[in-house]
Amino acid sequence: MKVHNFSAGPSILPDFTVEKTAEAIKNFAGTTLSLMEVSHRSKEFVAVMDEAIAMFKELLSIPEGYSVLFLGGGASTQFCMIPYNLMAKKSAYLNTGAWANKAQKEAKLFGEVVEVASSKETVYNYIPKGYVVPADADYFHITTNNTIYGTEIKEDMDCDIPLVADMSSDIFSRPIDVSKYALIYGGAQKNLAPAGVTFVIVKNEILGKVDRQIPTMLNYQTHIDGESMFNTPPVVPVFAALQTLKWIKEQGGVSAIQKMNEEKAALLYNEIDSNPMFKGTVINKEDRSLMNICFVMNDEYKELEKDFYEFATSKGMSGIKGHRSVGGFRASTYNALPKASVQALVDCMQEFKSTHV
Ligand code: PMP
Repeated sequence: MKVHNFSAGPSILPDFTVEKTAEAIKNFAGTTLSLMEVSHRSKEFVAVMDEAIAMFKELLSIPEGYSVLFLGGGASTQFCMIPYNLMAKKSAYLNTGAWANKAQKEAKLFGEVVEVASSKETVYNYIPKGYVVPADADYFHITTNNTIYGTEIKEDMDCDIPLVADMSSDIFSRPIDVSKYALIYGGAQKNLAPAGVTFVIVKNEILGKVDRQIPTMLNYQTHIDGESMFNTPPVVPVFAALQTLKWIKEQGGVSAIQKMNEEKAALLYNEIDSNPMFKGTVINKEDRSLMNICFVMNDEYKELEKDFYEFATSKGMSGIKGHRSVGGFRASTYNALPKASVQALVDCMQEFKSTHV
């Protein structure tokens, strides 16, 4: 039997995705060839790419005037592609974690960066609010889900300047109003696919406004014109992403997925709040992530952290260690994680309490 996979990323994918991809790795679309050994320009793979883009647009109700791209380089390459393509002089960033900070650092290579607010002082345990975004910045960058700290911006905000969002760890976890964003991007290795493909949703009209020369591969327009086939795309991860999109549709779409995510998160947060051995690390309940649930042992049980980890591991919990920079525990409850896995973790926490309190 498989262990319960709470890994933060790469992370759990639907069985459907794993099975269909495994089949295609042996015999892709009846070609008798492996998905790993066919041309990305074969008619069978072009059909996969087209369908993946179409389903991406359908499931997120992406309006006209936006392009969906599947690229290499991870979300980290987007940290520099965004300012390269969008920043004429000035940009604004909300510093909600290490990834937001890394994104902001790259933008500084291109001009003035205004950090509108930061929760760094308290190890990013809340989402700052009430800040002012400079009206003359070329865009405002946010990280909707902070994978390491378990905070999440769960609503699409209104912004007077183009809004850019890193949704690496919460894409497809809820419906989004794409029309509020100029660009949305992320590494696909959490809710979508194995590592190796990066998704970008870009509003076409925001491009072409900077004077600088942009290297061909770092220019969004190159990939829009090439329909994500300017160079060889990550064939296997794109195929897997399409299977996950089919699975999401089968579940009832992103609204149904959101409901399941809310139920899973409520189950675990409820245990964290009611079990005297544990406490959550995010200070405001409204900032709590539905994707990465972070908690620590309460002060009087601190010395039992290793024991709980070993106990939970012995019961089949995998990947619950907090990020090495913050410690404690982190249970990632991405779309594909069944509620039964969350229940199994809750059972572990209760059993541990019954033997120690
Ligand atoms: N942004 C967020 C929110 C992330 O969680 C991660 C990776 N965990 C990244 C960016 C970096 O992604 P990549 O490894 O694809 O560059």
